[in-house]
Amino acid sequence: MSSVELETPQGKYSQPTGLFINNEFVKAVDGKTFETINPSNEKPIVAVAEATEKDVDIAVNAARKAFEGEWRKVTPEDRAKYLSNLANLMEKHLDTLAAIESLDNGKAFSMAKFDVSMAARCLRYYGGWADKIEGKVVDTSPDTFNYVKKEPIGVCGQIIPWNFPILMWSWKIGPAIACGNTVVIKTAEQTPLSGLYAAQLVKEAGFPPGVINVISGFGKTAGAAIASHMNIDKVAFTGSTVTGRSILKAAAGSNLKKVTLELGGKSPNIVFNDADIDNAISWVNFGIFFNHGQCCCAGSRIYVQEGIYEKFIERFRQRAQKNVVGDPFASDTFQGPQVSQLQFDRIMGYIDAGKKEGAKVEIGGERKGNNGYFIEPTIFSNVTEDMKIMQEEIFGPVCSISKFSTKEDAIRLGNTTTYGLAAAVHTTNLNTAIEVSNALRAGTVWVNTYNTLHHQLPFGGFKESGIGRELGEAALDNYTQLKTVNIRLGDALFG
Ligand code: ADP
Repeated sequence: MSSVELETPQGKYSQPTGLFINNEFVKAVDGKTFETINPSNEKPIVAVAEATEKDVDIAVNAARKAFEGEWRKVTPEDRAKYLSNLANLMEKHLDTLAAIESLDNGKAFSMAKFDVSMAARCLRYYGGWADKIEGKVVDTSPDTFNYVKKEPIGVCGQIIPWNFPILMWSWKIGPAIACGNTVVIKTAEQTPLSGLYAAQLVKEAGFPPGVINVISGFGKTAGAAIASHMNIDKVAFTGSTVTGRSILKAAAGSNLKKVTLELGGKSPNIVFNDADIDNAISWVNFGIFFNHGQCCCAGSRIYVQEGIYEKFIERFRQRAQKNVVGDPFASDTFQGPQVSQLQFDRIMGYIDAGKKEGAKVEIGGERKGNNGYFIEPTIFSNVTEDMKIMQEEIFGPVCSISKFSTKEDAIRLGNTTTYGLAAAVHTTNLNTAIEVSNALRAGTVWVNTYNTLHHQLPFGGFKESGIGRELGEAALDNYTQLKTVNIRLGDALFG
């Protein structure tokens, strides 16, 4: 299937539109396609091939054949080399990939450049692990020799969301490939373009056919087919908690494939009286409004200690009003449009609920303009614990603020939701920082910062925010399984 020439403010480029299977772009078996929409102007960008169950089967067969064939013979050192080649190629195409992200997802071009750079660095980091995956020898008696080795799991199905399309692509592919697996990755239906563009670099990087397969398609068809596939050994998913549950059920109802889930959050961002207020405000602002609030770890519940509550709100209002909302390609833009009509409607629904439930709108609360899915940065104050906007994940540029008095209150409030992805504490007191960090039930706690993820640091959820950890050495556990080899020496019966 051919590619299509598209144009962004960064120039013209050639966009592949097929399904990437066996290192080739092909049409969907049924010839189906779907359009991806530009969230800045609500107009279609291009139609891409739409995978259904039949295409998932073809991609899985390709991945299985590669896993049992050529890929097994590739040395760990060569796996490292291919990942490193792919990282280099992504950096070479950084501006184009970033422009695709801005076009398809709506994120600010400057932020998209950072995403692509982090995606490349993540692949390089996992390339570094490929030849350092080691087992051990366990001595149980003089009559036996035991070793435990780490083996790849097999064919991995990977389902990613639309909020960080290329970054999630590499978070998933990096560790899976480093450990010697093959993958079928499905991008989100809202943002298929950057994953397809990067797929053509896979071939150029030297990967054998079938090792990395990239398909576009919808959750209820292609995604569900991955989750319930009998020939997929592991599924890794990032997205909403609702969908995460259905993936876990599908795995349980099919072949008990291994499952890792990185799900939603409603993360507390706690500011103590003794915080450096300028620093706290800039991280609180970044914590909620970065990526238009479309982050699973967004700091959407802001708890401010009573001594600085009024001052904090006044200063935070001033800071948030400076966030430039508009064309993702304009150099001063911080916040572009939300990704889709559906997300836009959901967020506006939450804003309405906040108003109706009696929270005070400090700033925002409205659509911005009348073309594209733009929403004003919105701050609600006087929010009580029972309000919907304090309990549910909004996934947009909307935050809820309330007051607390003691450290114990802050900890209790921080832990009230069923989520546990991330949290933050702003204080200049070391004891408070450590005590509160230890008490918060979250997979990541930031102190005097926010959203500063790094590929060397594990990331994932406590409670209903997920199962397993991505990034860091921890992600290798998701993509390897242990094999114990127990060898009887001599004539001993047991040992
Ligand atoms: P959102 O509601 O924000 O779009 P989802 O969790 O539904 O988030 O989507 C994240 C990813 O999960 C997307 O790639 C989507 O296609 C996929 N997905 C959605 N529903 C299912 C499902 N039932 N089974 C498998 N994947 C799904």
